[in-house]
Amino acid sequence: AKQSGRGAACFFDRDLDRVIRERRKIERDLERAVSHDELRLVYQPIVSTVDRRVTGYEALLRWQHSPHGFVPPDKFIPIAEETGSIIRIGEWALRTACTEASCWPDELQIAVNVSPIQIESRDFTETVEGVLAATGLTPSRLELEVTESVMLRHSASALATLQRLKDRGIRIVMDDFGTGYSSLSNLQAFPFDKIKIDRRFIGAMEQDEAALSVVRAVVGLGTSLRLPIVAEGVETEAQYAFIMREGCAEAQGFLFGAPSTAIQVQPRLRLIGA
Ligand code: C2E
Ligand code: CA
Ligand code: CA
Ligand code: CA
Repeated sequence: AKQSGRGAACFFDRDLDRVIRERRKIERDLERAVSHDELRLVYQPIVSTVDRRVTGYEALLRWQHSPHGFVPPDKFIPIAEETGSIIRIGEWALRTACTEASCWPDELQIAVNVSPIQIESRDFTETVEGVLAATGLTPSRLELEVTESVMLRHSASALATLQRLKDRGIRIVMDDFGTGYSSLSNLQAFPFDKIKIDRRFIGAMEQDEAALSVVRAVVGLGTSLRLPIVAEGVETEAQYAFIMREGCAEAQGFLFGAPSTAIQVQPRLRLIGA
Protein backbone atom coordinates (compact mmCIF):
# COMPACT_ATOMS: atom_id res chain seq x y z
CA ALA A 1 0.00 0.00 0.00
CA LYS A 2 2.86 2.32 0.92
CA GLN A 3 4.50 1.60 -2.38
CA SER A 4 1.43 2.55 -4.40
CA GLY A 5 0.95 5.64 -2.25
CA ARG A 6 4.43 6.88 -3.16
CA GLY A 7 3.77 5.97 -6.76
CA ALA A 8 0.67 8.13 -6.77
CA ALA A 9 2.62 11.05 -5.31
CA CYS A 10 5.23 10.67 -8.03
CA PHE A 11 2.54 10.66 -10.68
CA PHE A 12 1.07 13.79 -9.18
CA ASP A 13 4.46 15.57 -9.25
CA ARG A 14 5.09 14.52 -12.80
CA ASP A 15 1.60 15.71 -13.80
CA LEU A 16 2.11 19.04 -12.09
CA ASP A 17 5.47 19.43 -13.76
CA ARG A 18 3.94 18.70 -17.13
CA VAL A 19 1.12 21.19 -16.54
CA ILE A 20 3.60 23.90 -15.57
CA ARG A 21 5.82 23.23 -18.56
CA GLU A 22 2.84 23.21 -20.91
CA ARG A 23 1.67 26.51 -19.52
CA ARG A 24 5.08 28.15 -19.91
CA LYS A 25 5.12 26.96 -23.47
CA ILE A 26 1.69 28.46 -24.14
CA GLU A 27 2.88 31.74 -22.59
CA ARG A 28 5.94 31.88 -24.85
CA ASP A 29 4.13 30.77 -27.98
CA LEU A 30 1.29 33.25 -27.43
CA GLU A 31 3.81 36.08 -27.67
CA ARG A 32 4.59 34.91 -31.17
CA ALA A 33 1.07 33.91 -32.23
CA VAL A 34 0.36 37.24 -33.94
CA SER A 35 3.63 37.51 -35.87
CA HIS A 36 3.52 33.80 -36.75
CA ASP A 37 0.05 34.30 -38.24
CA GLU A 38 -1.49 31.60 -36.05
CA LEU A 39 -4.58 33.55 -34.98
CA ARG A 40 -7.86 33.63 -36.86
CA LEU A 41 -11.25 35.14 -36.22
CA VAL A 42 -14.51 33.34 -36.77
CA TYR A 43 -17.85 35.14 -36.90
CA GLN A 44 -21.12 34.05 -35.36
CA PRO A 45 -24.44 35.61 -36.41
CA ILE A 46 -26.69 37.52 -34.00
CA VAL A 47 -30.35 37.74 -35.04
CA SER A 48 -33.26 40.04 -34.23
CA THR A 49 -36.15 38.30 -32.47
CA VAL A 50 -38.56 40.50 -34.46
CA ASP A 51 -37.91 38.84 -37.82
CA ARG A 52 -34.94 36.52 -37.27
CA ARG A 53 -32.79 38.60 -39.56
CA VAL A 54 -29.06 38.83 -38.92
CA THR A 55 -28.21 42.14 -37.23
CA GLY A 56 -24.50 41.48 -36.95
CA TYR A 57 -21.74 39.07 -36.03
CA GLU A 58 -19.59 38.42 -32.98
CA ALA A 59 -15.90 37.93 -33.72
CA LEU A 60 -14.35 35.00 -31.80
CA LEU A 61 -10.65 34.19 -31.63
CA ARG A 62 -9.15 30.90 -32.77
CA TRP A 63 -5.54 29.88 -32.21
CA GLN A 64 -4.04 27.27 -34.51
CA HIS A 65 -0.84 26.53 -32.66
CA SER A 66 1.88 24.70 -34.55
CA PRO A 67 2.62 21.91 -33.89
CA HIS A 68 -0.05 21.46 -31.16
CA GLY A 69 -3.10 22.36 -33.19
CA PHE A 70 -6.23 24.09 -31.98
CA VAL A 71 -6.13 25.74 -28.55
CA PRO A 72 -9.55 26.92 -27.31
CA PRO A 73 -9.90 30.61 -26.29
CA ASP A 74 -11.04 29.69 -22.79
CA LYS A 75 -7.60 28.14 -22.35
CA PHE A 76 -5.31 30.78 -23.84
CA ILE A 77 -7.11 34.09 -23.16
CA PRO A 78 -6.74 33.92 -19.36
CA ILE A 79 -3.01 33.22 -19.87
CA ALA A 80 -2.69 36.09 -22.36
CA GLU A 81 -4.37 38.33 -19.79
CA GLU A 82 -1.88 37.34 -17.10
CA THR A 83 1.18 37.87 -19.28
CA GLY A 84 -0.14 41.02 -20.94
CA SER A 85 0.02 39.60 -24.47
CA ILE A 86 -3.77 40.11 -24.64
CA ILE A 87 -3.01 43.77 -25.46
CA ARG A 88 -1.35 42.83 -28.74
CA ILE A 89 -3.72 39.95 -29.47
CA GLY A 90 -6.77 42.07 -28.67
CA GLU A 91 -5.58 44.87 -30.92
CA TRP A 92 -5.02 42.36 -33.73
CA ALA A 93 -8.56 41.00 -33.22
CA LEU A 94 -10.09 44.49 -33.22
CA ARG A 95 -8.23 45.53 -36.37
CA THR A 96 -9.00 42.28 -38.19
CA ALA A 97 -12.70 42.31 -37.24
CA CYS A 98 -13.18 45.97 -38.23
CA THR A 99 -11.35 45.43 -41.53
CA GLU A 100 -13.61 42.47 -42.26
CA ALA A 101 -16.81 44.30 -41.24
CA SER A 102 -15.96 47.33 -43.37
CA CYS A 103 -16.66 45.07 -46.41
CA TRP A 104 -20.09 44.01 -45.11
CA PRO A 105 -23.43 45.74 -45.79
CA ASP A 106 -23.78 48.88 -43.64
CA GLU A 107 -26.62 47.57 -41.50
CA LEU A 108 -24.50 44.79 -39.99
CA GLN A 109 -22.84 45.30 -36.61
CA ILE A 110 -19.53 43.78 -35.58
CA ALA A 111 -19.15 42.75 -31.93
CA VAL A 112 -15.60 42.38 -30.58
CA ASN A 113 -14.71 40.99 -27.15
CA VAL A 114 -12.34 43.18 -25.16
CA SER A 115 -10.49 42.20 -22.04
CA PRO A 116 -10.47 44.46 -18.95
CA ILE A 117 -6.66 44.52 -19.34
CA GLN A 118 -7.09 46.25 -22.72
CA ILE A 119 -9.61 48.74 -21.34
CA GLU A 120 -7.27 49.61 -18.47
CA SER A 121 -4.30 50.08 -20.79
CA ARG A 122 -3.47 53.76 -21.22
CA ASP A 123 -3.92 54.13 -24.96
CA PHE A 124 -6.98 51.92 -25.53
CA THR A 125 -9.20 54.79 -26.75
CA GLU A 126 -6.51 55.88 -29.25
CA THR A 127 -6.12 52.28 -30.45
CA VAL A 128 -9.84 51.97 -31.14
CA GLU A 129 -9.96 55.34 -32.88
CA GLY A 130 -6.93 54.44 -34.94
CA VAL A 131 -8.56 51.20 -36.08
CA LEU A 132 -11.80 52.97 -37.00
CA ALA A 133 -9.90 55.64 -38.93
CA ALA A 134 -7.80 53.05 -40.77
CA THR A 135 -10.72 50.80 -41.69
CA GLY A 136 -13.31 53.52 -42.30
CA LEU A 137 -15.85 51.61 -40.20
CA THR A 138 -18.70 53.77 -38.87
CA PRO A 139 -18.29 53.86 -35.05
CA SER A 140 -21.94 52.96 -34.44
CA ARG A 141 -21.38 49.64 -36.22
CA LEU A 142 -18.80 48.60 -33.62
CA GLU A 143 -19.88 46.91 -30.41
CA LEU A 144 -17.34 46.23 -27.69
CA GLU A 145 -18.27 43.33 -25.42
CA VAL A 146 -16.95 43.69 -21.88
CA THR A 147 -17.42 41.36 -18.92
CA GLU A 148 -18.58 42.27 -15.45
CA SER A 149 -15.04 42.16 -14.06
CA VAL A 150 -14.39 45.48 -15.77
CA MET A 151 -16.68 47.14 -13.23
CA LEU A 152 -15.01 45.55 -10.24
CA ARG A 153 -11.33 46.32 -10.76
CA HIS A 154 -10.18 49.89 -11.41
CA SER A 155 -13.70 50.90 -12.14
CA ALA A 156 -13.16 54.68 -12.25
CA SER A 157 -10.66 54.59 -15.13
CA ALA A 158 -12.55 51.84 -16.96
CA LEU A 159 -15.73 53.86 -16.62
CA ALA A 160 -14.04 56.97 -18.06
CA THR A 161 -12.61 54.99 -21.00
CA LEU A 162 -15.93 53.32 -21.83
CA GLN A 163 -17.74 56.66 -21.58
CA ARG A 164 -15.24 58.24 -24.01
CA LEU A 165 -15.76 55.40 -26.46
CA LYS A 166 -19.53 55.65 -26.14
CA ASP A 167 -19.32 59.41 -26.75
CA ARG A 168 -17.60 58.59 -30.05
CA GLY A 169 -20.63 56.51 -31.04
CA ILE A 170 -19.26 53.04 -30.26
CA ARG A 171 -21.71 50.70 -28.56
CA ILE A 172 -20.82 49.03 -25.28
CA VAL A 173 -22.24 45.59 -24.43
CA MET A 174 -22.27 43.97 -21.00
CA ASP A 175 -21.18 40.40 -21.80
CA ASP A 176 -21.82 37.18 -19.83
CA PHE A 177 -24.25 38.97 -17.56
CA GLY A 178 -25.21 37.02 -14.44
CA THR A 179 -21.93 35.16 -14.06
CA GLY A 180 -20.06 37.82 -12.06
CA TYR A 181 -20.78 39.81 -8.94
CA SER A 182 -21.54 43.28 -10.22
CA SER A 183 -24.00 45.37 -8.30
CA LEU A 184 -27.01 46.96 -9.88
CA SER A 185 -25.68 50.45 -9.14
CA ASN A 186 -22.53 49.58 -11.09
CA LEU A 187 -24.62 48.44 -13.99
CA GLN A 188 -26.48 51.72 -13.97
CA ALA A 189 -23.31 53.79 -13.66
CA PHE A 190 -21.63 52.20 -16.68
CA PRO A 191 -22.59 53.38 -20.17
CA PHE A 192 -23.98 50.09 -21.50
CA ASP A 193 -26.12 49.93 -24.63
CA LYS A 194 -27.03 46.26 -24.38
CA ILE A 195 -26.86 43.27 -22.02
CA LYS A 196 -25.94 39.75 -23.06
CA ILE A 197 -27.19 36.86 -20.92
CA ASP A 198 -24.59 34.13 -20.62
CA ARG A 199 -25.28 30.89 -22.42
CA ARG A 200 -25.13 28.80 -19.25
CA PHE A 201 -28.51 30.24 -18.17
CA ILE A 202 -30.11 29.73 -21.57
CA GLY A 203 -28.86 26.15 -21.69
CA ALA A 204 -30.13 25.35 -18.20
CA MET A 205 -33.41 27.23 -18.05
CA GLU A 206 -35.60 24.35 -19.25
CA GLN A 207 -34.44 22.01 -16.48
CA ASP A 208 -33.46 24.48 -13.79
CA GLU A 209 -35.86 26.91 -12.07
CA ALA A 210 -32.97 29.04 -10.81
CA ALA A 211 -31.53 29.56 -14.30
CA LEU A 212 -35.00 30.48 -15.51
CA SER A 213 -35.32 33.04 -12.73
CA VAL A 214 -31.98 34.57 -13.72
CA VAL A 215 -33.14 34.91 -17.34
CA ARG A 216 -36.39 36.55 -16.22
CA ALA A 217 -34.61 38.85 -13.77
CA VAL A 218 -32.08 40.01 -16.37
CA VAL A 219 -34.81 40.72 -18.92
CA GLY A 220 -36.74 42.64 -16.26
CA LEU A 221 -33.63 44.60 -15.39
CA GLY A 222 -33.01 45.40 -19.03
CA THR A 223 -36.56 46.60 -19.44
CA SER A 224 -36.30 48.96 -16.48
CA LEU A 225 -32.91 50.28 -17.60
CA ARG A 226 -34.23 50.44 -21.20
CA LEU A 227 -31.42 48.19 -22.42
CA PRO A 228 -32.02 45.53 -25.06
CA ILE A 229 -31.15 41.97 -24.04
CA VAL A 230 -29.32 39.41 -26.14
CA ALA A 231 -29.70 35.72 -25.34
CA GLU A 232 -26.52 33.74 -26.01
CA GLY A 233 -26.26 30.00 -26.68
CA VAL A 234 -29.72 29.49 -28.18
CA GLU A 235 -29.62 25.96 -29.57
CA THR A 236 -33.27 24.89 -29.91
CA GLU A 237 -36.52 26.33 -31.26
CA ALA A 238 -38.02 25.84 -27.80
CA GLN A 239 -35.32 28.02 -26.21
CA TYR A 240 -35.79 30.62 -28.93
CA ALA A 241 -39.58 30.70 -28.47
CA PHE A 242 -39.05 31.12 -24.75
CA ILE A 243 -36.54 33.98 -24.89
CA MET A 244 -38.70 35.72 -27.51
CA ARG A 245 -41.72 35.48 -25.24
CA GLU A 246 -39.69 36.79 -22.31
CA GLY A 247 -38.73 39.85 -24.34
CA CYS A 248 -35.13 39.37 -25.49
CA ALA A 249 -34.40 41.63 -28.46
CA GLU A 250 -31.71 39.50 -30.04
CA ALA A 251 -30.46 35.93 -30.01
CA GLN A 252 -27.23 34.12 -30.82
CA GLY A 253 -26.43 30.44 -30.87
CA PHE A 254 -26.02 27.26 -32.88
CA LEU A 255 -29.70 27.43 -33.91
CA PHE A 256 -28.83 30.39 -36.16
CA GLY A 257 -25.28 29.43 -36.99
CA ALA A 258 -21.99 28.35 -35.45
CA PRO A 259 -18.99 30.69 -35.61
CA SER A 260 -17.49 30.43 -39.10
CA THR A 261 -14.70 32.02 -41.10
CA ALA A 262 -15.22 35.24 -43.00
CA ILE A 263 -14.96 33.35 -46.29
CA GLN A 264 -18.10 31.44 -45.41
CA VAL A 265 -19.90 34.52 -44.14
CA GLN A 266 -19.15 36.88 -47.00
CA PRO A 267 -20.64 35.24 -50.10
CA ARG A 268 -24.02 35.07 -48.40
CA LEU A 269 -23.75 38.70 -47.38
CA ARG A 270 -22.71 39.80 -50.84
CA LEU A 271 -25.91 38.24 -52.15
CA ILE A 272 -27.96 40.14 -49.59
CA GLY A 273 -26.06 43.34 -50.32
CA ALA A 274 -26.22 42.99 -54.11
P1 C2E B 1 -18.22 34.50 -25.09
O1 C2E B 1 -17.85 35.94 -25.32
O2 C2E B 1 -19.28 34.25 -24.10
O3 C2E B 1 -18.57 33.88 -26.52
C1 C2E B 1 -19.60 32.95 -26.75
C2 C2E B 1 -19.09 31.53 -26.73
O4 C2E B 1 -20.19 30.64 -26.85
C3 C2E B 1 -18.17 31.20 -27.91
O5 C2E B 1 -17.20 30.28 -27.46
C4 C2E B 1 -19.13 30.56 -28.90
O6 C2E B 1 -18.49 29.73 -29.84
C5 C2E B 1 -20.00 29.77 -27.95
N1 C2E B 1 -21.34 29.48 -28.48
C6 C2E B 1 -22.06 30.24 -29.32
N2 C2E B 1 -23.27 29.71 -29.54
C7 C2E B 1 -23.34 28.58 -28.82
C8 C2E B 1 -24.37 27.58 -28.61
O7 C2E B 1 -25.46 27.64 -29.15
N3 C2E B 1 -24.06 26.56 -27.76
C9 C2E B 1 -22.85 26.47 -27.14
N4 C2E B 1 -22.63 25.43 -26.33
N5 C2E B 1 -21.86 27.40 -27.30
C10 C2E B 1 -22.11 28.44 -28.13
P2 C2E B 1 -15.68 30.38 -27.86
O8 C2E B 1 -15.57 30.87 -29.27
O9 C2E B 1 -15.03 29.11 -27.47
O10 C2E B 1 -15.13 31.55 -26.93
C11 C2E B 1 -15.07 31.37 -25.55
C12 C2E B 1 -14.79 32.67 -24.85
O11 C2E B 1 -13.47 33.16 -25.17
C13 C2E B 1 -15.72 33.81 -25.26
O12 C2E B 1 -16.93 33.66 -24.60
C14 C2E B 1 -14.92 35.00 -24.81
O13 C2E B 1 -15.06 35.22 -23.43
C15 C2E B 1 -13.50 34.55 -25.08
N6 C2E B 1 -13.06 35.16 -26.35
C16 C2E B 1 -13.21 34.70 -27.62
N7 C2E B 1 -12.66 35.56 -28.51
C17 C2E B 1 -12.15 36.59 -27.79
C18 C2E B 1 -11.45 37.80 -28.11
O14 C2E B 1 -11.20 38.16 -29.28
N8 C2E B 1 -11.05 38.59 -27.05
C19 C2E B 1 -11.33 38.27 -25.76
N9 C2E B 1 -10.90 39.10 -24.78
N10 C2E B 1 -12.01 37.18 -25.42
C20 C2E B 1 -12.41 36.34 -26.42
CA1 CA C 1 -18.80 37.76 -26.04
CA1 CA D 1 -17.06 36.04 -22.33
CA1 CA E 1 -20.91 34.00 -22.62
